[in-house]
Amino acid sequence: MKHPNSYFDHNATTPLRPEAREEILLALTDVGNPSSTHSFGRIARKRVETARKIIAESLDVSTGQVFFNSGATEGNNTILKGFSGKRVLCSAVEHLSSIDCGIHMELIPVTPDGLVDIEELKKMVSINPPALISVMMVNNENGVIQPVLEISKIAKSVGALFHCDAVQSYGRIPFTRENIGADFITISSHKVGGTQGTGVIIVAPNTSLPKLVEGGGQEKRARGGTENVIGIAAFGAAAKAALAQLNDFQKLSILRDRIEAELSKSNSVRIYGRDVDRVSNTISCTVDGVASETLLMAFDIEGIALSAGAACSSGTTRMSHVLTAMGVEGRADRAPLRISLGWNTTEKDIEHFIEVWNKLRARLFKG
Ligand code: PLP
Repeated sequence: MKHPNSYFDHNATTPLRPEAREEILLALTDVGNPSSTHSFGRIARKRVETARKIIAESLDVSTGQVFFNSGATEGNNTILKGFSGKRVLCSAVEHLSSIDCGIHMELIPVTPDGLVDIEELKKMVSINPPALISVMMVNNENGVIQPVLEISKIAKSVGALFHCDAVQSYGRIPFTRENIGADFITISSHKVGGTQGTGVIIVAPNTSLPKLVEGGGQEKRARGGTENVIGIAAFGAAAKAALAQLNDFQKLSILRDRIEAELSKSNSVRIYGRDVDRVSNTISCTVDGVASETLLMAFDIEGIALSAGAACSSGTTRMSHVLTAMGVEGRADRAPLRISLGWNTTEKDIEHFIEVWNKLRARLFKG
C-alpha cells in the first residue's frame, strides 16, 4: 500500500491545529467589527482579547504589551524601519524580512555552526554603539538557538535596544520576554499551528512601538486596520495548544535523530549546527553529488515534502544566505535540504522518509 504523503516543512508553515480550526469555525459565524460598540462588535472584541491574554500570559507580559498584526514580516519591518537612519546591527543569518527590510543593516558574522560571533559583536558595538541589535532566537533553516540573553546584555551595555525574531522558537521552546532580555519580540501564528497572515509584536514596558501601518486607532493606535478576528482567535487557540504540548515538541528530537542517524551513513551528507544547541525539530544538511531540484523533486514524487533552504536563479543553484554565512560553499551538485518536523509528525512519517531516502540514495548519487 502506498504511504500517505509526509510533511517535513513545518518551519515554512505548520499545519493548522485542531484547536485553531475549532476557533475559526466559531469565529466564522460572527458578524462584528471588534471596534464596534454594539453586541456584535463586543463578541468579536472578546475573541481578540481572549487571544491577547493567552499570548500575554505565555510570555509573562501584560496584555497592553501585545500588538496584533499581519505576521512576522510586518513585525520585523515595523521594528527595524522604526530605526531607519540609526545604526542597526543584525546577524547574517536573520530572516530576509529583517535583512532586506529596506533600511541599512550591518551584519554580524556567524561561526561555522551558525552562532552569532560574540567577539565580533563586542568589537562592532565598542567602535560605535548601535541604536538596535536584532537577532533571532532560533534560525528557520538550521534550528540553531542563539545566545539571545547574552546578546541582549551586550546591547544594554552600550545603551542599545534588543529585538528578537522569535518566530521559530515560540511554542517550541519555553521562554518569556524577560528571560531573553528583549525590548521587542516578533512572532507569527502559522508557525505554531494558527493561520498565515497573523502575527504579534511584544513590546517591553515603557518602550514605544514604531508605527508602520497608519489608519484607524486599532491596537492602541499603534497599528491601523481592522483586526483579523478569525486569524487572531486561531492564533490564541494554537498558541495555547502549542504551549501545553511543549514537552511533546522537545521529544521530536528522538524522531529527528533517527533521520540524522540514517543520513549520517552517507559520505555525501553534511549536517549543520549539530554541535551546538538546536531546536528539536530541524535538520539542515547538504547532499553532494546531486542537484537540489533533482533531489527535492524526487522526494516530492515519493510523497515527502521538504525544502531546500536555497534560492535558484537562471539555472544556477546557490546556497541560501544562511549556509553561505556559515561558510558552506554553493555548488551545482550540492543539494541543501531542510527537514523540519512538527506537532503532527508520526513514526510512520519517519519510516517513510528513511525508506525513500535509501531508495533515492541508491538511485541519484553515490556515497
Ligand atoms: N522570521 C522567521 C525566522 C521566519 O521563519 C519567518 C517565516 O518564514 C518570518 C520571519 C516571516 O513570517 P511571516 O510568514 O509571518 O511573515
